[in-house]
Amino acid sequence: MSELAVRAEKLDAVDELGGKRAEFVLDAASGHAADAAGIYLDGNSLGALPAVVPGRVEDVVRRQWGELRIRSWEESGWWTAPERIGDRIAPLVGAAPGQVVVGDSTSVNVFKALVGAVRMAGDGRDELLVDATTFPTDGYIAESAARMTGRTLRPVTPAEVPGALGHRTAAVLLNHVDYRTGRLHDLPALTAAVHEAGALAVWDLCHSAGALPVGLDEHGVDLAVGCTYKYLNGGPGAPAYLYVRRELQDRFDSPLPGWNSHAEPFGMRSGYEPASGAPRGRVGTPDILSMLALEAALEVWDGVPVEAVRAKSLALTDFFLECVAEYVPEGRVECLTPVAHAERGSQIALRCDDAGEVMKRLIERGVVGDFRAPDVLRFGFTPLYVGFADVERAARVLARTLG
Ligand SMILES: *Cc1c(COP(=O)(O)O)cnc(C)c1O
Repeated sequence: MSELAVRAEKLDAVDELGGKRAEFVLDAASGHAADAAGIYLDGNSLGALPAVVPGRVEDVVRRQWGELRIRSWEESGWWTAPERIGDRIAPLVGAAPGQVVVGDSTSVNVFKALVGAVRMAGDGRDELLVDATTFPTDGYIAESAARMTGRTLRPVTPAEVPGALGHRTAAVLLNHVDYRTGRLHDLPALTAAVHEAGALAVWDLCHSAGALPVGLDEHGVDLAVGCTYKYLNGGPGAPAYLYVRRELQDRFDSPLPGWNSHAEPFGMRSGYEPASGAPRGRVGTPDILSMLALEAALEVWDGVPVEAVRAKSLALTDFFLECVAEYVPEGRVECLTPVAHAERGSQIALRCDDAGEVMKRLIERGVVGDFRAPDVLRFGFTPLYVGFADVERAARVLARTLG
């Protein structure tokens, strides 16, 4: 056994989150002669299945829907699920209760948040800044939001944001962690700079919630959105969430004022009057099956401090980088993820010319990461179910695949 493999075993033995692994379904038969079966490093794209979910979904379908039918809107808590589950996510992103609502996709919530932010910023401010390196959907939606509100969209890198801010800036849309490189941006400093310019800060937390502390309330973030199917393990297409800071809730003017966000939804009035608080971010009838699968999935976070998740995440990515340096011939891959902890999310991105082919062969060998065009190998490290022995084996198989 190599020195690194021995160390991995020791690290796993003292891992305080090690027991969480048993709460996930991870041992699905891979069906091929994998030399590292079941190493899943793609939880930053689709989180693994928490074991509690299938039974819960079965109950929601058979009993709540099949037997209680319409009564479930009340008796099974369907109607209030968006706010209730929002409050379950809130501590994971550093928000006090009553500010997070679950529903719709991240793309849709980006739209609500950006248009809402521009409307709060007022007329004199005619520019919207967006992260030029963003996950594409955020950029597309920002362009449409700017066009609809008569603002100019200005794509800038996060590093350029402080210099681009000014009296014309209405709002800034930024990603907490870059989906491609895994770079963690300085949310407290950037938010403070945006506020100094008198603008609103909108953060996309897709790659940070469930992986590291966010501190929305602490840092005075104005609006935030995020998905729940990555580090929060909510399942494919699980509904996203919207955070509106409490002090702004009364001024939040949603561009999608559906009947679910009405102050009196069952009054069936022709005139719109917005609900107060987080429900103002709702639109139409929630997708209950996905939402209640998410609610069950969030139970794995009970008693898990985000700080412990962050500590293990950094230890895992440090260890992966060390194993890659030891096993992979120098110069074969280039690490795009910053080495500094303050700038690193919970994934490692390695660049190599034949990344697409390499990832295909890696997956055949049972190490599942993903490929991002044109030349990036992405490996996500989810502290609740990835261990150090996985990391060492993944690096070993990667080295063989690259060799
Ligand atoms: C994953 C991700 C999304 C996904 O948006 P959907 O509407 O759920 O498809 C959006 N933005 C970022 C930054 C992401 O990482």
